[in-house]
Amino acid sequence: MEPTKVTIKKLEQVTDLLKEADESSIGTYLFKGLRIQISKYRASGSERFARLYHRRREQGLCVVCGAKVTKKNPRTKKAYRLCEEHRDKIDKRAK
Ligand SMILES: [Zn+2]
Repeated sequence: MEPTKVTIKKLEQVTDLLKEADESSIGTYLFKGLRIQISKYRASGSERFARLYHRRREQGLCVVCGAKVTKKNPRTKKAYRLCEEHRDKIDKRAK
């Protein structure tokens, strides 16, 4: 997993979540060349996948490859869950 570069402020927010054992603190962070990894002990593969899916969804990234999704669904006004490439491969194939 690629770490997210963080400032000390962001790191403090993460440690606040950590105090509550909030699972939204889970992630890999990069602070001044140091990697801080917070993960759930003995999480199953499907749990990890679900978390990755939701995180990408929240950040507006393609759920398959993590690329930034730029296009929005004109009906829902929300960003697509897939990048253009994967939308071609996955969504449009269903038609
Ligand atoms: Zn993609």
